Amino acid sequence: MARLKSTDIEISSFQNAMIQFDEAAKRMQVNPAWLEVIKQPRRVVIVNLPVRMDDGSFQVFTGYRVQHSITRGPAKGGIRYHQDVTLDEVKALAAWMTWKCAVVGIPFGGGKGGITCDPLKMSQGELERLTRRYTADLIDILGPELDVPAPDVNTNEQTMAWIMDTYSMHSRHTVTSVVTGKPISLGGSLGRREATGRGVLFTIREAAKHMDINMEGATVAVQGFGNVGSVAADLLYDDGCKIIAVSDVKGGIINKNGIDIKKLLQHVKKTKSVVKFPGTKPISNEDILELECDILVPAALENQITEENAPKIRAKIVAEGANGPIIPKADKILDKNGVFIIPDILCNAGGVTVSYFEWVQDRMGLFWSEREVNQRLEEIMKNSFRDVLEISMTKRVNMRIAAFMLAIKRVMDVSMLRGVYA
Ligand code: NAD
Repeated sequence: MARLKSTDIEISSFQNAMIQFDEAAKRMQVNPAWLEVIKQPRRVVIVNLPVRMDDGSFQVFTGYRVQHSITRGPAKGGIRYHQDVTLDEVKALAAWMTWKCAVVGIPFGGGKGGITCDPLKMSQGELERLTRRYTADLIDILGPELDVPAPDVNTNEQTMAWIMDTYSMHSRHTVTSVVTGKPISLGGSLGRREATGRGVLFTIREAAKHMDINMEGATVAVQGFGNVGSVAADLLYDDGCKIIAVSDVKGGIINKNGIDIKKLLQHVKKTKSVVKFPGTKPISNEDILELECDILVPAALENQITEENAPKIRAKIVAEGANGPIIPKADKILDKNGVFIIPDILCNAGGVTVSYFEWVQDRMGLFWSEREVNQRLEEIMKNSFRDVLEISMTKRVNMRIAAFMLAIKRVMDVSMLRGVYA
C-alpha cells in the first residue's frame, strides 16, 4: 500500500493535531491567550546534513528537530528516518508528544526529530555518518535537561548508541541520559523495547473491560508489524486473543481461525516480512482495516483511517498504536458509529513512559528489574486510562477529546504557575 502523505488528504498531520487540540480546548474554560502559549511549537530547527556516501560522493539530507514544549520538563520524543518526512509531520508528532507525556503524568515536554532519507537504501556506514552529523549539528539543543531523543520509525538502539556516543565525545564524558531506547549495555532499560506494545495491551485490557468484551477469544487485526505492532500482537496472543490478520509494508496475511504469533515471529525473523506465512491468505493493507473484528490496532503510520474508509470500519475498539492513524473527519464517523477509540496519546504512551524510567535509572545509576519496570508501567497506563475515561464519562466527550482535555489542563496549570518571563 502506498503511504498516504499529508498532501494526499485534505489536511496535514499538524493541522490534524491542531484540530484535535481545538476540539478539546473549546470545551474548557480557559484564557485563549494561554491556549496560544501552549499550542504552537516552542522551537523548530532545520539542518542540512552533508554526508559522505560509500562511493565517495556527498549527499545532502534535510533534518528536523521540533521542541513543541519544555514547560513540564525537557523536550522528549523520537527521531524518524523516512523518505516522506516533512517539517509538518515532525511538528505534529512533537505536539502529540507534549500531550502524551502530560496524559501519563511524566515530567517531560514534547519534541520530535526526523531526517528525510530512505534508510532501506543506505548502508550501516552511511546511516552512522548521517546520525552523527545530525547529532553534532543539534548538539547545543540536546541534553538530559534539554531534549532527550528516542527511536521512532526506522531508527533503533544502534541509532541511539551513535547519538549517545557523539554527544558524549563532544561533552568529554559519557552522558547516557541524553537518549532513551539505548542498548541495555549502554544504560538502556529492561522492558523498553516492548514498552509501547505492552502499553497498548494494558489500555486494550481496560477498554475491553469497559466494553464488556472478553479478551479470551477476542478477534484482533493489526496493521504494521514493527516494534509496536509485533509486540502488541504477541502480548494480545498471550492474553488469549485470536489474531486474525496482520500486515507490514509488503502486505498482509489473514486466517480467520487465528494466526500463531510465536511462529509468525520466527517467520518474520527469517524472511523480514509477514507475507507468505504458511496457513494464511494474503490481504491488502486497506482491507485489513475494514475486517470484522473486536479490536483493530493500527500500528504503522499516520492518516490510515480517512473519511473514505471510516464508514467501513467494523471493529468495536480501535487502539491507536501508531501516532495519528485516524484523521479528524474519520474520528467523527467512528464516534457516530459507536467505535471506542483508545487515542494515540494514551494508547501508545507506554514507550515514552519506560523512556522516562530509563532516563531516571541513568541519572540514578541504579537499574531496575524488568518486573519492576513492567509493574510501574502497568500502574501508570491503567491509572491514565481511568483518568481519561472518567473525563470522557463526566464531560460526555469521546476518549480523544477527554485525553486532550486532561493534557491541556496539566500543561496549562504548569504554564500559568511558571508565568511568562518577559
Ligand atoms: P517500525 O519501523 O518498527 O514498524 C513500522 C511497521 O509498519 C513495519 O512493520 C512496517 O513494515 C509497517 N509499515 C510501514 N509503512 C507501512 C505502510 N505504508 N502500510 C502498512 N504498514 C507499513 O515502527 P514502530 O516503532 O513500530 O512505529 C509504528 C508507529 O508507532 C509509528 O506511528 C510511531 O510513531 C508509533 N510509535 C512508536 C513508538 C515506539 O516506541 N517505537 C512509540 C509510540 C508511537
